[in-house]
Amino acid sequence: MRHVKFLECIQCGKRHEALPAECRCADCQGLLEVLYDYDYVARQFGREELASSREYNLWRYLPLLPVAPTTKRTPLRVGWTPLYHTPALAASIGLETLYVKDDGQNPTGSLKDRAAAVGLAKALEAKAQSVACASTGNAASALAGNAAALGLKAYIFVPERAPLGKLAQLLIFGATVVSVQGSYESALQLSAQAIDSCGWYNHNAAINPYLLEGKKTVSLEICEQLDWRVPDWVVVAVGDGCTIGGAWKGFWDAYHIGLIDRLPKMIGVQAAGSCPISRAFHSGEPLVPMAEDTLADSIAVGAPLNPDKALRAVRHSGGTMVTVTDEEILQAMRHLGQTTGVFAEPAGAAVLAGLQKLLEEGMVGAKESVVLCVTGNGLKDVKNGIVAAGQPLLVPPDINQLLSLLPSTK
Ligand SMILES: *Cc1c(COP(=O)(O)O)cnc(C)c1O
Repeated sequence: MRHVKFLECIQCGKRHEALPAECRCADCQGLLEVLYDYDYVARQFGREELASSREYNLWRYLPLLPVAPTTKRTPLRVGWTPLYHTPALAASIGLETLYVKDDGQNPTGSLKDRAAAVGLAKALEAKAQSVACASTGNAASALAGNAAALGLKAYIFVPERAPLGKLAQLLIFGATVVSVQGSYESALQLSAQAIDSCGWYNHNAAINPYLLEGKKTVSLEICEQLDWRVPDWVVVAVGDGCTIGGAWKGFWDAYHIGLIDRLPKMIGVQAAGSCPISRAFHSGEPLVPMAEDTLADSIAVGAPLNPDKALRAVRHSGGTMVTVTDEEILQAMRHLGQTTGVFAEPAGAAVLAGLQKLLEEGMVGAKESVVLCVTGNGLKDVKNGIVAAGQPLLVPPDINQLLSLLPSTK
């Protein structure tokens, strides 16, 4: 792979050969990042090549992914999700230009499919037959679904609280599912021990540097779908911090190979009940772990493993972090659904709540352009969908009773 230079430790800067199963810096245990030969990549493809590509999935960006062209790929259609222009939602919150990137339309219903597509390609390059991860739910379903499609065995560790929809996906995809009686952190620790003992491929997003490379394709798509007009702000929900780190890396790479001529500012949204990265951002102090107290299970991460990449994305871009309450998240789920037809899971709708807050504070201006990344599909967590939206009208089969109950018609 000529285009991949090496893996660089984000802590000590040491460079490592880009082996497919390399996870942490051997010297300092820091996290690694994939570095490319941008000049070489820029010679391989640009806007014109992309315009004529018929690969309507994330592999259209292969020259900028750390995967060999001959590696087997997931047969599922990952990526190239719609970017909706949403004027009604924009007007309702006092903004001129707003887009919704609906990543809930990925094959297993979340942005995590992007990570699994690239991660599993690396697992195959490492000649692995079994893969494992700990996850709050979506990374697990993405791994299990894409592993099933590739004929690989998946071992999944989830905290006991994972919503039923995500659990059902895991079981349907035939993964070995370990429901850990404890927090996400304890699921993660147990998975790390099991990976060590059993020799499975480590598919933990917070540790495996390749997964972030898959996630970055969301931003490459946003740029391309906007015809290379970069938005002022991009809003992403933050748990472990890999997703926003990946989204930022996508813009960064696109900028450095000349696909775009400026960078957006990144907004990271956390739930008020689980916001250690936001606190670290605003205080400037080292991260202090906190409880995982939010109904937005995908971002209920009290002890994140990747705060550095998230903080770097937000700081580097000149963006900010914001927290939202569960009540605001539920309200945003309803508001998003009613104005755009997009059903987001709580973490996916949190971005709207965060944007509204920053608009009210004047941090985001009414004339600026914004992309909301809706990272997960609401059907994964229908329980909270009903909590957000309320109950249907209950009527006997009688037209007069129905008419008396209907809000004014026409
Ligand atoms: C995983 C996830 C996030 C957050 O990603 P991190 O890498 O943990 O910060 C946000 N929304 C959804 C729907 C997710 O599944």
